[in-house]
Amino acid sequence: QNNYNNNNTKNNIDQQNQAAKGDIFTRRQRIQQQRKSLPIASVEKRLVEEARNNDTLIIVGETGSGKTTQLPQYLFYGGFCRDGGVIGVTQPRRVAAVSVAKRVAEECGVALGQKVGYAIRFDDMTSASTRIKYMTDGLLLREALLDPCLSKYSVIIVDEAHERTVHTDVLLGLLKSVQKTRSRYANKVINGHAQNGLLLGAENDTLHTSLLKPCHGKKLSPLKLIIMSASLDAWVFSEYFGGARALHVQGRQYPVDILYTHQPESDYVDAALITIFQIHLEESHGDVLVFLTGQEEIESVERLVHERLRQLPEGYQKLSTFPIFSSLPSEKQMKVFMPAPAGFRKVILATNIAETSVTIPGIKYVVDPGVVKARIYDADTGIESLDIVKTSKAQALQRSGRAGREGPGKCFRLYPESEFAKFEDSTTPEIKRCDLSHVILQLKALGIDDITGFDFIEKPNRTAIIRSLESLFLLGALTEESKLTDLVGQQMARLPLEPMYSKALILASQLNCLEEMLIVVSMLSVESIFYAPREKLEESRAALRCFSSPEGDHLTLLNVYRASNEFLEKNKLTNSKEKAEKNLRKWCKDNFINSRSLRHARDVHSQIQRNVEQMGLRIASCGDDMLVFRRCLAGSFFLNAALKQPDGIYRILSSGLMVQIHPSSVLFRSKPECIIFDKLVRTNNSYIRNICRVDYLWLAELAPQCYGLQE
Ligand code: ADP
Ligand code: MG
Repeated sequence: QNNYNNNNTKNNIDQQNQAAKGDIFTRRQRIQQQRKSLPIASVEKRLVEEARNNDTLIIVGETGSGKTTQLPQYLFYGGFCRDGGVIGVTQPRRVAAVSVAKRVAEECGVALGQKVGYAIRFDDMTSASTRIKYMTDGLLLREALLDPCLSKYSVIIVDEAHERTVHTDVLLGLLKSVQKTRSRYANKVINGHAQNGLLLGAENDTLHTSLLKPCHGKKLSPLKLIIMSASLDAWVFSEYFGGARALHVQGRQYPVDILYTHQPESDYVDAALITIFQIHLEESHGDVLVFLTGQEEIESVERLVHERLRQLPEGYQKLSTFPIFSSLPSEKQMKVFMPAPAGFRKVILATNIAETSVTIPGIKYVVDPGVVKARIYDADTGIESLDIVKTSKAQALQRSGRAGREGPGKCFRLYPESEFAKFEDSTTPEIKRCDLSHVILQLKALGIDDITGFDFIEKPNRTAIIRSLESLFLLGALTEESKLTDLVGQQMARLPLEPMYSKALILASQLNCLEEMLIVVSMLSVESIFYAPREKLEESRAALRCFSSPEGDHLTLLNVYRASNEFLEKNKLTNSKEKAEKNLRKWCKDNFINSRSLRHARDVHSQIQRNVEQMGLRIASCGDDMLVFRRCLAGSFFLNAALKQPDGIYRILSSGLMVQIHPSSVLFRSKPECIIFDKLVRTNNSYIRNICRVDYLWLAELAPQCYGLQE
């Protein structure tokens, strides 16, 4: 009997193993099938051939055709990683770099971080064995600071080039000269002597001699460059790269019915909500993709959807929401690719990320309010803001296209057709509408001193360059001759932060309040720590009062971070780590604090802490002496200082711009005389967010170069 039982158990286990293997096998098979059916698969051989024969290649293909996930794999198997070279693929967005790397690792059947990995600011999932590396364009720029020849890469693919982010544009310029330098030195060992001889008489389109130092003793191989774009603007890139070869990958697109509203909508969030339910109740099955402008908006729509859902009769409640935005923790990001529970309709609430960077299967309906959050820079005032602006026609087209990937679809544009006609044809490249300080700092650190003479694909506005040089000078990063200053400038270029944040950290280490500043900069680096649902406004305000400081939002954020830390540490004494984390989420909920944002801030904190430690900055605390801390804020954010006017409106001192304190600020009511702020946000009004009370005299004392008293 025993024997029989044993056998039986063994058989059972075998069967289970078989079944498990079968599952993996079918999933593998399914993925292989999907890969084979992608439009790009039919031209694999040709693409590899073209990449072999051309130093620079431009590839244009409709979104979803398989460029991002497949081409790096084709090149890998085509032998482009022989001799240990890495294929680097840049993305404008963190979410895309992460989610695509995960997908490709799965397609290759390897663990993430091994052959396939990703690296984004504050998160590195690569190892010595990584051969296909997805990363943000900004991160590759930072890598160039350490290795100007980008010598570990055999191929660099600049993906989503049509997005024309400021980092992509700068990267293109840099890669152009890296490529020239590398072909000039190809297969020669660089040493001080040969290098001088070779560079004499060289045109200035290669990297500066001094930059090649890190490459001494190394043998460089030529660099293969591939530029990928979703729109038909290949000629711009082709021309920039001296007539580089451009290829078009045919996509697959089903017809999409486009519907407009009769009247303009005054509240697009409300209109989006109504449309979501209209689709849910009236349209045949299929998932919905809704474009929104940011985390705050997405989370509020998510709450409102669930609230309205509860009011529907039982049988109509089968709808589930999936948010996707850049600061969503990466394990949550992947959820959006999973199918909804059986019988449920999936509603994806996305930022612009879903426009071209990631393709989510199953979408049949698109809801497009026709707006997007964008960086806007006013060179006259020197102020950058995040504005909600109208999309371009090209963007609207990309968005509606997402409904026709797998079959005919529908796109609900939440504006009248007459409005569409007024949209710009295409989006202005970011380099023409953003603050250039950070980028200029990086170029300077790369030894590129002549910013106006740099070979940009599209030259930024001259006034914007001058403005940024000016503010970098005022922050102490540049000398009067516009050279990087030895200490502050070098340090600022090394930190992966906006110059004002970097300045705040450096100054804080001198004033002995870096512990506090690290926390505040981390909290400022994430979106919306607090949330205030419309229906619970009073409760959320009361919760906020427990943390709020009469000195302003920076100190309030500090209080929140410390309170949460204390709560977590205390909890860890009696609970497992998981349980403590869970309790913290509950604590956040009770206090109307966004636990996702808080968690993100904690990650950012540990990363920047590592950065400043590596730089040798001293981390000390100012204890209860918050005056020191506020003085430090004044000494670093002085370009964002404003004075109250008799009517309660504020005048920004550096530009004369009139602004209001955002209602979410703890200083909204008390309105102190003199303040510094973190960000300007424009909707219908010009609002400043994250405010701290300072003393006007401090400005004169700590930033005399800006506010020096006239003699
Ligand atoms: P492109 O770069 O040309 O826009 P991609 O390579 O990003 O195309 O996508 C190719 C296909 O892979 C798409 O059809 C998409 O649905 C699928 N895909 C990408 N990521 C995932 C994922 N995480 N899960 C399931 N399918 C995915
Ligand atoms: Mg892509």
